Amino acid sequence: MNRLEKYPEFIPGLKSLGSTCTVTQELFQCTQKYVCVLYGQLRDGDVNIARFNRFKVGQYSENTMPCTKDVLLQHTSRSSYQAYIWKCALQAIISPPPISEFGWEIKDGQVLVKWMTMPVAPDGILENVNCGCKSGCSTRRCACVKVELKCTGVCGCNGCVNVHDENNSMTDDNENDDFDDDVEAADMFD
Ligand SMILES: [Zn+2]
Ligand SMILES: [Zn+2]
Repeated sequence: MNRLEKYPEFIPGLKSLGSTCTVTQELFQCTQKYVCVLYGQLRDGDVNIARFNRFKVGQYSENTMPCTKDVLLQHTSRSSYQAYIWKCALQAIISPPPISEFGWEIKDGQVLVKWMTMPVAPDGILENVNCGCKSGCSTRRCACVKVELKCTGVCGCNGCVNVHDENNSMTDDNENDDFDDDVEAADMFD
């Protein structure tokens, strides 16, 4: 079922996309909550917390976690800017602000998407806990296995067996209220 049909309370907020170029706080709160709902985190209104909750229950891969707040803000800015242009389609002249303030950057005369302005995870995860094993990550010689973490998208391993069971990945309306408190994962964020 279409999520918006199921959660119509998001419609007015999302409809306001493009009323102005700038992303209002109300709009961003609405998009954050909506993205949390898409990932089954009905109680969270903050994608970073939802992301962390997914991480704690072992959903380490990027497609089982919502994006970071920073990434979502860039994306919402681009959407809002584009929707604003479309909503002004009947005006002969509009003077929109520079796109470089709305989730794009200009490099060597080319327009590029600015995906994020800060790292997607703490340095400890991005730099230290990943591996490049050639033989499947089954022994403690694997850096990830050694610290009892599953391999992630940042690992460069081949034939990896140190992966999370995908059957437990995102399910409809799973609030994940009953997750185990994974103290080790939580400690990494301290
Ligand atoms: Zn490994
Ligand atoms: Zn691996």
